[in-house]
Amino acid sequence: MSSKRVYIAYTGGTIGMKPSEKGFVPEAGYFTEQLNRLPELAYPDMPAVVINEYENLIDSSNVTPADWFKISEDIKAHYDEFDGFIVLHGTDTMAYTASALSFMLEDLSKPVIVTGSQIPWSQMRTDARENLITSLLLASRYDIPEVALYFHNRLYRGNRSRKLDATGFHAFSSPNFPPLVEVGSQINVNKNLLLKEPSKPLKINRIAAPKVMVLSLYPGFSTDVLEAVLNSGIQGLVLMTYGMGNAPCNDIKFLHLLGAANHAGIIIVNCTQCIKGAVDMSSYETGQELLSAGVISGFDMTPEATLTKLSYLLSTECSTAEIKQKMQISLRGELSIN
Ligand code: ASP
Repeated sequence: MSSKRVYIAYTGGTIGMKPSEKGFVPEAGYFTEQLNRLPELAYPDMPAVVINEYENLIDSSNVTPADWFKISEDIKAHYDEFDGFIVLHGTDTMAYTASALSFMLEDLSKPVIVTGSQIPWSQMRTDARENLITSLLLASRYDIPEVALYFHNRLYRGNRSRKLDATGFHAFSSPNFPPLVEVGSQINVNKNLLLKEPSKPLKINRIAAPKVMVLSLYPGFSTDVLEAVLNSGIQGLVLMTYGMGNAPCNDIKFLHLLGAANHAGIIIVNCTQCIKGAVDMSSYETGQELLSAGVISGFDMTPEATLTKLSYLLSTECSTAEIKQKMQISLRGELSIN
């Protein structure tokens, strides 16, 4: 065994689930026991591993910002004792958690790798074994100073990742950013893509329960619903638009509602419904009208990164103008410009 040490925060997810009458459910103790008996842990390249099984293992559909904070605090509490960290998590909201952690763990200088599996460890064709073993190697033997997501032979930047396949083993991708690491018979780290090591010590930021909403446009959507959403006390809106950030420009009420909401201090971020590519509101009249209404660009950020970044910034002391400015620059490599 190497002298490296990895800390595993086990939050739940399919990886440690067992079949039940209600479908797969997390089973306390099961995965921890399996891990502690894993023969691969005895290999010389393997780090020493400590696993913290959370008291209440959850399906990640139940994750809330309070869970993100608990994970951040857990990592901070063990930060000096370990070389790297793994967060075992369900795949359904894994991209949200990876994005949120990237904003919550400021000045991170060690790898934090979020992973899980599509098939439980308890099942014959599980993908958990490879995901876990490679994550352990990456977290202990490589200098990766960022929150990343490992799945099926690829390490992705956490806040660039998305779950794109509900059942396939290649469930995740980062459509607007190349993988940080490609794993085959060799492990190829794209070192030039990694974030720079910070000079300051780790700091954790809290994300308060966000008063933020995501609204996806579709032909014929109801402006009455939009009005109700904007009047519901929200502080931020992620508007999922068409193509390069376009929305109807022939609906006066729609544009008026957005303009008034912007005037009232609601931050409206334009995020494309496309999986790949970026918002550029200057290209079409249908985008320029949004710009005039005060909508800001989410550029090539994923919806998960946009939502968690907006929630994080709204949880700080930043003014509306500062939040708008920070939303449009890269804080943790979540966006391609600047
Ligand atoms: N429903 C599960 C979860 O997100 C799916 C998984 O882990 O793959 O917890």
